[in-house]
Parts: sequence; structure tokens; C-alpha cells
Amino acid sequence: MKSLPYFCRGEVIRGFGRGSKELGIPTANFPDSVVDHLPADISTGIYYGWACVGNSDVYKMVMSIGWNPYYKNTKKSMETHVIHTFKEDFYGEILSVVMVGYIRPERTYDSLEALIAAINSDIEEAKVKLELPEHLKLKDDNFFTSTASSSSVLPSTTASTSQTIMNGH
Ligand code: ADP
Ligand code: MG
Repeated sequence: MKSLPYFCRGEVIRGFGRGSKELGIPTANFPDSVVDHLPADISTGIYYGWACVGNSDVYKMVMSIGWNPYYKNTKKSMETHVIHTFKEDFYGEILSVVMVGYIRPERTYDSLEALIAAINSDIEEAKVKLELPEHLKLKDDNFFTSTASSSSVLPSTTASTSQTIMNGH
């Protein structure tokens, strides 16, 4: 996928209450303003990369891009599981991510156990792949260090502009 690595950020909004948190795998949802900017060659499926919340440390993440049932599956959704244990929820905060690589397409599962096992194997794959030197260096990209000053106080349109600029380098 030529658009990878792909940088973006936006406010964390409420999802569809699918109960991801109850499975032990909460997923922070991006608003349409972020999803609508996804390049056409970014297909649905599971990705790995780096993420930070507000001006937090940068953590490993896995992201699911899928079809949004709220819009009768005509629109994509982007849900990020940050591989870190947070003390509190962070709805309303700015989530910054860089999608680095693709793991697999979406699929359906016969049981909840099979779904959880698949996600846990995605998380393990992400942890290993992100240790590669070319992926580790993205963790230190100044996209993450500029988060607090450039994005959280500005409207999302401005954040989208900076997203475009970041992808131009
Ligand atoms: P929703 O349907 O509202 O997205 P989830 O059950 O998927 O609900 O939980 C997602 C929320 O959990 C996030 O918006 C965030 O506030 C919180 N959260 C706590 N820890 C994490 C984490 N490690 N990764 C992603 N979200 C987390
Ligand atoms: Mg969610």
C-alpha cells in the first residue's frame, strides 16, 4: 500500500458500544472527519503502528478499519487499540496515530473466543514487527512531539491539514 506509513489524528469519539472493552480490547474510535481523509488504497482490515493520546508517550497499536454499521456499511470506521493500560478512558482527547503496516483483511468468526484469539495474535504480530529499525524510527517522528501544541487547541480541519503535510515528507 503506497500510502503507508499514514499519519493522522483526531478526537476520540464514542463508538457503537460493541462492548470491545468487555472483551479486554477497547478500541478508540475516530470521527468521520478523519475517516473521510483515508486514501483510497487503504483497504479494510487490521493494521499496526504507533499511537499517542494527547501528549502521552508513544505506544504500539493495532487498528481495525471496517465498514461502519451506523451508516449501513457505506462508510469506513477506524478503531484503534492502544497497547497500553490507561488509568482512565480518554474520550474527547486527541489521538495521534501512524499506520505502519498491514496485518490481514477483516473476517468473521464462529465464536467470541476465536475473535479474541485472532486479536491477541494481531497484537503479538504488531509488537514484533514494530521492533524493526525502520518501524521503530517512526515512533520518534516529530508528528508525535508536535501533538500538544499543534492539534489539541485547533479545530479538526487544521489537524487534517497537518496530517496531509506530515504525509508529504
Ligand atoms: P466505544 O464503543 O465507545 O468505542 P470501547 O468499548 O471500544 O467503546 O472502548 C473504547 C474507549 O476505551 C476509548 O474511546 C478510550 O476512551 C478507552 N480506552 C481505555 N484504554 C484504551 C486502550 N488501551 N486503547 C483504546 N481505547 C482505550
Ligand atoms: Mg470502540
